[in-house]
Amino acid sequence: MLNESEKIKFYSGENIPLELHKVRIVQKLHLVPIERRLEALYEGGFNTFRLDTKDVFLDMLTDSGTNAMSDRQLGAMMMADDAYAGSQSFVRFQKAVLDVLGKKYLLPVHQGRAAENIISNAYVKKGSVVPMNYHFTTAMAHITQYGGRIEELLYDEAYVINSKHPFKGNMNLEKLEECILKHTAARIPYIRMEASTNLIGGQPFSIENLRGVRAIADKYKIPLVLDASLIGENAWLVKQREEEFKETSMADILLCMTDLADLVYFSARKLSSSRGGGICTNNEAIYRELEPLVPLFEGFLTYGGMSVREVEAIAVGLYETLDESMICQSPQFIAYLVNALESKGIPVVTPPGVLGCHVDAMQICAHIPQSQYPAGALAAAFFLISGVRGMERGSVSNQRDEYGNETYADMELLRLAVPRRVFTLSQIKYVEDRLTWLFDNRHLIGGLKFVYEPPVLRFFMGGLAPINDWPQQLMAKFREDFGDSL
Ligand SMILES: *Cc1c(COP(=O)(O)O)cnc(C)c1O
Repeated sequence: MLNESEKIKFYSGENIPLELHKVRIVQKLHLVPIERRLEALYEGGFNTFRLDTKDVFLDMLTDSGTNAMSDRQLGAMMMADDAYAGSQSFVRFQKAVLDVLGKKYLLPVHQGRAAENIISNAYVKKGSVVPMNYHFTTAMAHITQYGGRIEELLYDEAYVINSKHPFKGNMNLEKLEECILKHTAARIPYIRMEASTNLIGGQPFSIENLRGVRAIADKYKIPLVLDASLIGENAWLVKQREEEFKETSMADILLCMTDLADLVYFSARKLSSSRGGGICTNNEAIYRELEPLVPLFEGFLTYGGMSVREVEAIAVGLYETLDESMICQSPQFIAYLVNALESKGIPVVTPPGVLGCHVDAMQICAHIPQSQYPAGALAAAFFLISGVRGMERGSVSNQRDEYGNETYADMELLRLAVPRRVFTLSQIKYVEDRLTWLFDNRHLIGGLKFVYEPPVLRFFMGGLAPINDWPQQLMAKFREDFGDSL
């Protein structure tokens, strides 16, 4: 079954992801000259997290808290019930979670990682092992912070950049069972499944695979935790790619997924296009165990550190997740960009996933060793020549092991996030154009080294420097080819 925007055909035969929304509030953008962008890079330690948005043209850093809200969400924010305890905004949030995610107990938290902190605090101990399809930076940081470690159990095809596999986020069921037998169920507090595995290119898992994980969880009596931050798009891709669900509604697909998990948590900065988060379950014992941690770390149980206005926006946004013409917008723009780049021979993660387009720095910067952070270098170079801010998702985003040694990432990716309903197609075409130029001049990109390295989550505030004057040479080539263009 096609969704509305796919049903609209162009006379030209072109495959264009037509927007089924109109823009009613706009925000002005600036593209500062490349000379200023070079200064900004030095000021920000060649780390795109440390750039100021006044120097950024298209902000493709993340889809976290940067999505466009709907008129209905903004309207609901004005109706918020400002109360410390017993707010009716929270009652509406509870109802949305029950209707959309099928869970009756809800704990509010200020964002996704706060949920990870609470879950890890309650269940992870020294020596715990948490098997998962793949880690997310903050999920891993919290598990290791409480003395545990993670084990990533994807199938080999997940690491193949160029693939046609529809579900690269699937958990390797054989390895999961081996992992449980090796460590014993007693050391495994829970199995974690992440919808649309963020760090390997926003790749979904199938419901068939989730059912397989559930069966193993049942066999060894281990709880299954679902990170649902990117569940809307995962559900939409299930509908596109999994035969059994072609005619199933988004509502039923979502319920089918959450029903298989004992505990579901999410970042509302992504799911529901607002800001905040939640933990939900139908298991009263789990709820009671986690409940006391919310007032300790977050806030009272009816706001959890969030503004009640955001709580209202989440409630409305959860229902909007069920609207296919809304949820398809970001993945369709991503598919458009991925297909355009691929047709020019630029290495990108395929099939197109969710949350962004993932460019393979390992291939583009094959001349830069992993010890000089090819993905970080590509992110800096791309900002320099375009004003587009992406995010390094490679070894800079990894953490050192317990002995302080570098652990190199499986993939060195530049992630160009496509926040939901924010960009227009001509902006996506600009990204394609500048990336094509950079690809043709890739030999000019050089490596980076750390000059300031924080001990935890170093990619956020870390400072790097180019190993030589490659940024100046890249800028000179840009001026040569583009004249006085911005
Ligand atoms: C963003 C994200 C988180 C963390 O959420 P925050 O709201 O940024 O703290 C956790 N898991 C996944 C899969 C995410 O994408």
